Amino acid sequence: MYPKLKINLCKLEENTKFIKEKCDKNGISIMVVTKSFCALNSAAKAVVDGGADMLADSRISNLVKIKDLKVPKVLLRLPMLSETKEVVKFADISLNSEIDTIKSLSVEANKLNKIHNVLLMIDLGDLREGILPCDVDKTVEEILKLSGVNLYGIGVNLTCYGGVIPDEINLGKLTEIATNIENKFKIKLEMISGGNSSSIYLLDNGKMPSKINNLRPGEVIVLGRETAFGELIEGMHTDIFTLEAEVIELKEKDSIPTGNIGMDAFGNNPVFLDKGKMKRAIIAIGRQDVNPDGLTPYDKDIEIVGASSDHLILDLTNTGKDYSIGSVIKFNIDYGALLMLTTSEYIEKEYIK
Ligand SMILES: *Cc1c(COP(=O)(O)O)cnc(C)c1O
Repeated sequence: MYPKLKINLCKLEENTKFIKEKCDKNGISIMVVTKSFCALNSAAKAVVDGGADMLADSRISNLVKIKDLKVPKVLLRLPMLSETKEVVKFADISLNSEIDTIKSLSVEANKLNKIHNVLLMIDLGDLREGILPCDVDKTVEEILKLSGVNLYGIGVNLTCYGGVIPDEINLGKLTEIATNIENKFKIKLEMISGGNSSSIYLLDNGKMPSKINNLRPGEVIVLGRETAFGELIEGMHTDIFTLEAEVIELKEKDSIPTGNIGMDAFGNNPVFLDKGKMKRAIIAIGRQDVNPDGLTPYDKDIEIVGASSDHLILDLTNTGKDYSIGSVIKFNIDYGALLMLTTSEYIEKEYIK
């Protein structure tokens, strides 16, 4: 069945191993982030086989899918107040920045007779989640009063909203905050979590502060690309995921529509370039499944012309290959495309070894 997303489990396992070994050398554990592929169970298992110390996802429903894999589970997105019971049930650790939510986790943990681990997020400039450094002491003090929850550590998230790059200064600040908490409250923090795929480059240039003992890599493992500078990493696979879709029409047609041009299916006023006659193919996939900007045809001579909800139009004029009706066109995909394709129920998933 097409369209199909092929997932190479061997390569996924090898990419995990690659990052795991790099982190091991620096005394850093990894919670591998499964949200980009909706925590598809076979893929999550490959990540565990590759050495993931923990699995992390933004959504409880994804953690439920992987509950039987034998590593600790982490809820990456701050819990909703309305889901704290499920959080305690399905996550061993959750990232937090709101004391009201942590109090609710405490209540639910006590009911279930569990200890829930809290990773307190600190905002060091990226302006997504996290308490401000000036609020650390009073927040820690309040958490330590609660039963049923354990202050497991602190963490920071960067390069997600504000595009702030992790460096010795902001991660240095994180380790300084950790040391201050440990000294002031006479406790030991188990985890100092220094970011996501954008922190990986600091392992290569030796600038990772030594107190950082955990990272939360997602994209670097699934796409083989670090995210501080967008560089592909040598030795990692960049083709774990392949999208395949089928040609349903193939005709020579004009490159410019005929008639008065109004709006397209999405309310935009399209603009066209006259390239004369074109060999145009329609493949059976559309914007309901994926944003076409995130697709790169493996055949470099294919150009994506446009898309509506269920049709993707390609220019095959310059390809030397003999495509026909029923031909399968293959694409490499970016992060946004991976999110959409794994979410869409219209996309068949096929695992290869
Ligand atoms: C998504 C997410 C990650 C993973 O980010 P990548 O850029 O894919 O490595 C890590 N931490 C948090 C809190 C996240 O939300």
